[in-house]
Amino acid sequence: MMVRVRFAPSPTGYLHIGGLRTALYNYLFAKKNNGTMVLRIEDTDQNRLVEGAIEGLIQSMNWAEVYHEEGPFIQEGRIIQKGENGPYIQSERLPIYKEYIQKLLDNGWAYYCFCSKERLDKVRDEQKAKGDIARYDGHCRNLSQEEIEAKLKEGQPYVIRLKLPENRLVTFDDIVRGHIEVNTNDLDDQVLIKSDGYPTYHFAVIVDDYLMGITHIIRGEEWLPSTPKHVLLYEAFGWDAPQFVHLPNILNQDRKKLSKRQGDVAVEDFMKKGYLPEALVNFIALLGWSPGNEEEIFSIEELGQLFDLERVNKSGAVFDVSKLNWMNAHY
Ligand code: GLU
Ligand code: ZN
Repeated sequence: MMVRVRFAPSPTGYLHIGGLRTALYNYLFAKKNNGTMVLRIEDTDQNRLVEGAIEGLIQSMNWAEVYHEEGPFIQEGRIIQKGENGPYIQSERLPIYKEYIQKLLDNGWAYYCFCSKERLDKVRDEQKAKGDIARYDGHCRNLSQEEIEAKLKEGQPYVIRLKLPENRLVTFDDIVRGHIEVNTNDLDDQVLIKSDGYPTYHFAVIVDDYLMGITHIIRGEEWLPSTPKHVLLYEAFGWDAPQFVHLPNILNQDRKKLSKRQGDVAVEDFMKKGYLPEALVNFIALLGWSPGNEEEIFSIEELGQLFDLERVNKSGAVFDVSKLNWMNAHY
């Protein structure tokens, strides 16, 4: 099989240690298998965009040499050349999402929802008051074609939602986390297209992973709860789902999720402080993966030969700066 992976950051800030690790594992897995890594900028949440973030992300990746061959080229802080494998920028692909959502509207897996925010808030408050989990109540599931057309003609704002099948078991196998099962009754009729016309993350990610021929999705475990929805979307389109690999969190010394309060987490902080990129990459490679021998100092080439997904740890990896400092002194 031709391995194709992707790194898909949202341009909401600097590249942090966790993001670099995701990029690195994708990169090493591609290298090991003579595959390809695609870079995709997921900027469909227009409220969270941070100016200069795309350039910053690419610069950090280039500094760490986690993405350079055929990669985008930056000069004076601007992308001046898109490589063959990206960056793909989701906000430039809106016509594609439009074309694909129409397929789901046509085959009955998606529907227009014209509910106002006030109505949705009211439904949610009532559900919470009863101690239920807040979920869309399906109000617009069965509008007639005439009703829909009339509302569209009036220019009523709408979103497009996934029409979940009732009481169905969704299953998939994660290479790190094993077999996962979820009942659709515990999921929501996920919004796929927002009222501003942009796709949500969930919709854009599956359309793009399919169109870009992605074979393995390697990402942080915070996305594991989203995956059953994605599996259903693959089914809705009649596509085979790729392999899923959810990486354990990176933790502070106190075993809470790594945060800025406990020290540097941005790749550019380490860059500015004069750390060697080889040392940071070596250190990060071992945060959640072990090579199966006692050695600790590796070049990126060696990592590319050794890396495998079977040895990704299931539990969180603790970020220990003293170890990084030791590695940095070693080069
Ligand atoms: N855009 C998501 C993020 O910023 C990527 C999630 C994924 O890899 O599917 O983390
Ligand atoms: Zn509705």
